[in-house]
Amino acid sequence: MPQCGGTKRDGSRCVAVVDTTSSYCYHHDPTLAEKRRRVAARGGKSAANQEIRTTKDQIRDIIAKVYRGQVDRNDATAIFAGYRVLLDYIRLERAVKVEDELAFELEEIKRERGISS
Ligand SMILES: [Zn+2]
Repeated sequence: MPQCGGTKRDGSRCVAVVDTTSSYCYHHDPTLAEKRRRVAARGGKSAANQEIRTTKDQIRDIIAKVYRGQVDRNDATAIFAGYRVLLDYIRLERAVKVEDELAFELEEIKRERGISS
C-alpha cells in the first residue's frame, strides 16, 4: 500500500496509507489545507453562532416592546411562533451540517487506513 509523502511534526515520515488518488493523507495533503483550516476554525461555528446571537437580540427586543406596550400581545404571540419554527430549522440545519462533516471525516479516515467503502 502506498504511504503518505508527508512529514510529521517530529520530523519522521507520516505512516498513513494513501490510495491512488493522492500522495498524501488528509492531514498532509496541500490541496486540503484550506479545508483543514476551516474545520479547525469551526470551533466556534462562527456563522451559525452569529445567527443565534442576532435572533436572541431580536427576541429580547420584542419582549422589551411587549413589556412597554409597543407591540400587541397577540402580534407578539404570532411573532414568537415564527421564531419557534425558525429555531426548528436552525436545529435541522445544524444536524445536517454535523452529519455531512462526520461523513466526510469518516471517508478521510477510511481513505487513510486504506479501507474502501
Ligand atoms: Zn500524512
